Amino acid sequence: MQELEPVDRFTFACYPGIKCFNECCKNLNLALTPYDVLRMARGLGITTTEFLEKYTSRHVGIATGLPVVVLKMVDGRCPFVTDRGCSIYAYRPTPCRLYPLARVRTGEEVHYYLLKEDFCLGHEEEREWSPEEWVEDQKAMDYNSMNDLFFELISAKNRSGKMLNEEEIEEIYRCCFDIDSFKLEVGLKDDVEALKEGIRYSIEIVSSL
Ligand code: SF4
Ligand code: SF4
Repeated sequence: MQELEPVDRFTFACYPGIKCFNECCKNLNLALTPYDVLRMARGLGITTTEFLEKYTSRHVGIATGLPVVVLKMVDGRCPFVTDRGCSIYAYRPTPCRLYPLARVRTGEEVHYYLLKEDFCLGHEEEREWSPEEWVEDQKAMDYNSMNDLFFELISAKNRSGKMLNEEEIEEIYRCCFDIDSFKLEVGLKDDVEALKEGIRYSIEIVSSL
């Protein structure tokens, strides 16, 4: 991984027909953010409850103590990869959208890293990008800003150092990841407003004594 400054440029292109097509959709440990879950569920036309049950597994993060949702592989492949590429391309999650970049937030700072994996031949292409241009091209701005809200929850949990009990972990999982269930409970109609409210409520949980 190589850190990129905002002014740095990298070369990359990915397209059907490139020799490594779909190689990046195998054997992944793909953690999903709440906004990823929401968008993927909407792309598939199912509820977040159904999406979480069918396509994900969950555990509690060792470092954060917060729920972590991971996309389940099927025979070592992403369930959405087809011979023609990603079947949910317009709704693909953050890591797929940003690849070959990884975005890391530390406090108020955002860092981009370039991931170079042997199987990915996109780096040999000539098209040049800055991190900002790539984010815009991949329509990742909304993802970044919604993921930043979730990062505020992680920061609040780190600040409080609170040990969450099982009930609280379950509540945060429902408020942040299972937005359709949360919407029913609080009577909100808008997905994004409900997600913001779910994260805000979760911050209250991790901050309360
Ligand atoms: S969601 Fe799409 S791009 Fe991401 S791993 Fe699955 S098939 Fe590949
Ligand atoms: S160029 Fe990289 S990102 Fe594109 S299909 Fe090949 S391995 Fe995947």
